[in-house]
Amino acid sequence: MSIAFIDLKSQHQLLDGSVLKSISAVLEHGRYCMGPEVVELEKRLAAHCQVAHVLSCSSGTDALFMSLLAYGVGPGDAIFTTAFTFFATAEVIALAGATPVFVDIDPHSFNLDPVRLDEAIQNVKSDGKLKPKGIIPVDLFGLPADYDAIMDLAQTEDLFVLEDAAQSMGGSYKGRPAGSLGHVAATSFYPSKPLGCYGDGGAVFTDNQGLNDIMSSIRIHGQGDDKYHNVRLGLNARLDSIQAAVLLAKLPLLEQELEARTRVALRYNQGLRGVQTPFVPSGYRSAWALYSVLCDRRDELHDHLAALQIPSVIYYSVSLHLQDAFASLNYQRGDLPHSEFCSDRVISLPMHPFLSDEEVDQVIQAVNCFN
Ligand SMILES: *Cc1c(COP(=O)(O)O)cnc(C)c1O
Repeated sequence: MSIAFIDLKSQHQLLDGSVLKSISAVLEHGRYCMGPEVVELEKRLAAHCQVAHVLSCSSGTDALFMSLLAYGVGPGDAIFTTAFTFFATAEVIALAGATPVFVDIDPHSFNLDPVRLDEAIQNVKSDGKLKPKGIIPVDLFGLPADYDAIMDLAQTEDLFVLEDAAQSMGGSYKGRPAGSLGHVAATSFYPSKPLGCYGDGGAVFTDNQGLNDIMSSIRIHGQGDDKYHNVRLGLNARLDSIQAAVLLAKLPLLEQELEARTRVALRYNQGLRGVQTPFVPSGYRSAWALYSVLCDRRDELHDHLAALQIPSVIYYSVSLHLQDAFASLNYQRGDLPHSEFCSDRVISLPMHPFLSDEEVDQVIQAVNCFN
């Protein structure tokens, strides 16, 4: 029996027909786009994340993009974000015509460092070429960023905060759920995320009704009062009713799955030697989308684990400021030392709710015998 990196098969079996039942209901009524499941899911997600408004959409990337479009982000705007994240976080900034300004991370949390963020904002202001407009903190690997510090800065500097909660559904910060921590949040329901559907999907979360109305219009071609009245440019970014049905069946399991992932994470933390294990500050709850450690000889550890048939994955081996797609921004190696340090050393170990203690111990032993 080999260990799975993420185990979606066991999860499906545990759901015991409820997903199929939920999908068949869609096949019966036939409202494949914007059916009743979509409305129901948005209501349940709003309650779950304690926000006033939720709009489901076609992916996490579109959720981020819809938020930026709704804020009118465009050429000449600076959007501050981390370089240690998935490409989509910064891709949408450039797609909107704005300029990503990459900020270094705290190497212990892997998240945006508020001190560096303040410096980056002051630099852009004194430089005078771009207008600071917003911040996209990422809750990387499931751990929320430091929102008290980030929201304070945003208020002082009059910036919006878009929480990239693609990896943090189920996590929380000082008692408040991920998805409710900025002015608007975006999440992804890609299958391997903490709350995944059976294909692509995403959602935006906000308490701001005006912003929600604009995002709702953007989701369907900038529509106005009716379908054939278009008041702005938008997207085709709906979530399929079938995917909403899958999520409705899976949402009730999220909490118990997170408890199981937390058990795995604690066992790793206690057992692993010779690598830097993830740190969860008090008052934070990680969704444990991934369990990522730092190791000086990361590539060798990766090979060593592969030889023992233990899957491991490297998220993310290239910091975004050094990606070819952002070469025109002229960042150099050395500009964001913590982000580069982590990209060179990070490795993620198997993490899912169905790992047995024996399997976790097998991974621990494999890592510990490498050192
Ligand atoms: C997965 C992910 C996204 C993009 O979500 P998709 O649904 O794949 O478009 C954005 N940001 C982060 C941090 C992610 O992990």
